[in-house]
Amino acid sequence: MLYIGSHISASKGYEAMGRQALKLGANTFAFFTRNPRGGKAKDIDETDVAKFLAIADGHDFGKLVAHAPYTLNACAAKEDIRDFAKRTMKDDLLRMEYIPGNYYNFHPGSHVGQGSEEGIALTASLLNEVLSPDQATTVLLETMAGKGTEIGRNFEELRAILDQVRLDGKMGVCLDTCHVWDAGYDIVNDLDGVLDTFDHIIGLGRLKAIHMNDSMNPLSAHKDRHEKIGEGHIGLETMKQVINHPALKGLPIILETPNDEAGYAKEIALLKSLYEG
Ligand code: FE
Ligand code: FE
Ligand code: ZN
Repeated sequence: MLYIGSHISASKGYEAMGRQALKLGANTFAFFTRNPRGGKAKDIDETDVAKFLAIADGHDFGKLVAHAPYTLNACAAKEDIRDFAKRTMKDDLLRMEYIPGNYYNFHPGSHVGQGSEEGIALTASLLNEVLSPDQATTVLLETMAGKGTEIGRNFEELRAILDQVRLDGKMGVCLDTCHVWDAGYDIVNDLDGVLDTFDHIIGLGRLKAIHMNDSMNPLSAHKDRHEKIGEGHIGLETMKQVINHPALKGLPIILETPNDEAGYAKEIALLKSLYEG
């Protein structure tokens, strides 16, 4: 089964997101748990959530991949910024329990000059404070492009975070095709080799979701500029390989490409047509 969708605006609530997904031809999607720049989250409306759950159930949706605000920095040098990240994540995870069993993806953070080892330790210690043994949500670390002082720029750094998290059974990884390409993993010429490396360092069992984006830049550029599917340096053939790779079958595939609604519907239809079942 191909589970594919795109980012969808959360501003009108859960039922609206479900209906929007159907309109796009999607059977999963991503949404920001609150304004992507941070800020207060909307109150949960349980009737709205129930209507959404009925849609998801009736249309065999795959797991959703919620996204934390991208301004959240779990390994900031300043304590108040880390504290904000902690409170936001804690609150997001409580809210995620209304749609149990889905994914919550976040960027592991930027160490802002403290060094990646310190960044990794700070992010892991924040996770140790927010994860709960009772939660039904799996928290995903996103593979990053390595721009600026981002941690998670290689598989080893993600492994190091996982190693320091006590409730690591609540953790997984989301692979972003643009980010790994920009980080220097050649998925165009050697997808098998990259997945093999991932398996050796992290374990493919940890891989829970794919962000599918083409890249405006060449291999190892460390830029993180997403391009439409098939229009960047990665290309359509590799995207076809990704959606059909036996090790990736069944994972939710989320488009974060620079598109409007019609553009997303078109990319979803295109990728469905390339899926070999
Ligand atoms: Fe992201
Ligand atoms: Fe991403
Ligand atoms: Zn990105």
